[in-house]
Amino acid sequence: MNITKIREDFPILGRTVYGRPLVYLDNAATTQKPRCVVDAITEEYYSVNANVHRGVHFLSQQATELHEAARETVRRFINARSTNEIVFTRGTTESINLLASSFGEACMTEGDEIIVSTMEHHSNIVPWQLLRERRGIVIRVIPMSDDGRLLPDEYERLFNERTRLVCVAHVSNVLGTVNPVRQMIATAHAHGVPVLVDGAQSVPHMAVDVQALDADFYAFSGHKVYGPTGVGVLYGKEKWLDRLPPYQGGGEMIQHVSFERTTFNELPYKFEAGTPDYIGTHALATALDYVSALGMKDIEAYEHELTRYATERLQAIEGMRIFGTTPDKGSVISFLVGDIHHFDLGTLLDRLGIAVRTGHHCAQPLMERLGIEGTVRASFSFYNTREEVDALVAGIERVRKMF
Ligand code: PLP
Repeated sequence: MNITKIREDFPILGRTVYGRPLVYLDNAATTQKPRCVVDAITEEYYSVNANVHRGVHFLSQQATELHEAARETVRRFINARSTNEIVFTRGTTESINLLASSFGEACMTEGDEIIVSTMEHHSNIVPWQLLRERRGIVIRVIPMSDDGRLLPDEYERLFNERTRLVCVAHVSNVLGTVNPVRQMIATAHAHGVPVLVDGAQSVPHMAVDVQALDADFYAFSGHKVYGPTGVGVLYGKEKWLDRLPPYQGGGEMIQHVSFERTTFNELPYKFEAGTPDYIGTHALATALDYVSALGMKDIEAYEHELTRYATERLQAIEGMRIFGTTPDKGSVISFLVGDIHHFDLGTLLDRLGIAVRTGHHCAQPLMERLGIEGTVRASFSFYNTREEVDALVAGIERVRKMF
């Protein structure tokens, strides 16, 4: 991959902060956007914009075609069987809330159980807790080893006749652990239980094939995969989506409405109430085409090597503690240095132009498991370079000497 050339596609990477070149290492929070994605947004607003579906006029039909073509692009990108299985949402969070609401209503009663893992993002915990309040369900948690690996035997032991769903992250946004979701899904299926995979941190970094994984549901966010904010995806096997009731009511999701009775639209529209973010879906498809052209395998290999290099260099810093040390982890490194507070380290790195994230990373139960309050997190993209890793290491050394 020609990183110098790739970086030219991302205008923001050329800017300075506090008079220093920006070193953007907060890609797990959101990724920067290539010019083609921003152009797709402005061009559609300037030359196509009209509300989608049901419109007889030219612009509406053109906007509808772009929107539905985006659904096909997403389908291809994650290798879903049918576009009926691709529901557009606002992001991973809304995808999971949709499922908690619809699956909870159709498939769960008091005393039924779900399994989540220790390393889940709050967005794969709190919707289930809200369901627990409404329905009296039970949440069981897969424990983890100190290096950040979910324990397979403990996982297996959590299943019983009340287990209804497993909800697990493909890649941890804190530890970088790539969970063995394929095996975990096979285990769940052996117990007759479907699985939701939170793919927020996997889809941007590796080729995902929902059929090969045999995932029942798979959620991800557009903005983490170089697309716009405010658009995301819930993949669901057709047999499941067919069974589930709508999430929200309104336009688009109905077939016929009378005051006595309403019938619902076919898949996937049953789950898409109201005007969709059709500009966003087209821009998301543009982003997926962009990363596909780079090649997901090449992206994964490059980021893997960069993370390996960063880990090696960071480990050489005195007092360095890295959280999440499983082999073949994703491109996220969470760490603490000596007794420097993560917030102080992040703030001082920021003054050097280095953008990292600090805090609990929306994973407070994981922080509790690790016995810490928070970490500094550097997360990498294919547009990051070894020089930027060197800048991070030099920055940390500089801060360390101040303390
Ligand atoms: N799940 C994981 C693993 C994440 O890292 C994130 C965001 O950081 C989310 C879910 C929530 O994504 P969003 O805020 O885009 O809905």
